[in-house]
Amino acid sequence: MLAGIGAFVIPWTTLPRYWGQKAEYLLGEPPVKLYLPSDMGQNSKKPSPEVLAKKAIEDIRVLCNPDMQGRRAGTAGETRTLVYLQEQLEALQLKAYGNDHYWQMFSIPPTEERIINNRALFRPDESDNLRIPAANILAGLPGRNREEAIILSAHLDHLGIYKGKLCPGANDNASGVGCVLEVMRRLVKESAQGTRPYPNIVAAFWSAEEMGFLGSKYFVKKPTIPLSQIKAVVNLDTVGNGQKKDFILWETGDSPLTNKVKEAMLKNGAEIELAGGQGNNSDQSSFIGTGVPAVTILSKDWLWKNHTPEDNISLINEEKLETACNVLYDVVKKIAF
Ligand SMILES: [Zn+2]
Repeated sequence: MLAGIGAFVIPWTTLPRYWGQKAEYLLGEPPVKLYLPSDMGQNSKKPSPEVLAKKAIEDIRVLCNPDMQGRRAGTAGETRTLVYLQEQLEALQLKAYGNDHYWQMFSIPPTEERIINNRALFRPDESDNLRIPAANILAGLPGRNREEAIILSAHLDHLGIYKGKLCPGANDNASGVGCVLEVMRRLVKESAQGTRPYPNIVAAFWSAEEMGFLGSKYFVKKPTIPLSQIKAVVNLDTVGNGQKKDFILWETGDSPLTNKVKEAMLKNGAEIELAGGQGNNSDQSSFIGTGVPAVTILSKDWLWKNHTPEDNISLINEEKLETACNVLYDVVKKIAF
């Protein structure tokens, strides 16, 4: 496995050279320091009470740390993010649902950078033959029926260092990642006490969402869980800012899942608006046409400071974040128990 990680990490060294031709700011600094796991998959310790009590805000703080370099897909910052997530999932002793233990490796094309309506965006440069390694991470809590799964997902990547400025992406989408982790911890704790879900509950962290949902698209193309077994995908994207009760929902089509999310919102005193993305979208869109019901939950004010360096930890409303966690938890309770 370590050899696998090594093979994955080494090609990154070509990346600054390539992008350096276009953009000097990616050359040299910040220095790259790689963390490699010491006991991948070998951890036999029971999850400690401290691990199980960890909150989403703690994950957000780590993911926004300058060490993570803004989590751009295909960079060392993404590698660090993947390793951090792997450590969190391993600490919960979750089952691997990737194709290489927790990881699902794929490659992405180089991207062009654009500023549109004051937001920094990427577009893949399909004309270039170079491909850059990236990875999704999937790990789950086995249910009583191993032939069914529901996926709780969030994209792990963000913009990285854009126009020379670090974009920490606290709301987009450290907030979604933190919520999925917190809910998985709650479910693992309950499972240890004997309350087990019916289907497998799988946490999926997609990479390269910012480059056109490339991680989730790759999963749909090469699923590590048969799509016929996936009963729902609940995706969280930018759920930590704005008013405590205001959310919106993007969906792949009318489904009972939408009603369950609405019920969970109501239970938590929150309101949800069904809204089109007005040209914006998230990873639920990759599941259109697959027959898998998929929704993305967002803060109503998700566009506020989105894709700017100001999307930092100060943007996070901790009460809002807690509501998002509780909603996700209640959705799981409604559809998986
Ligand atoms: Zn984004």
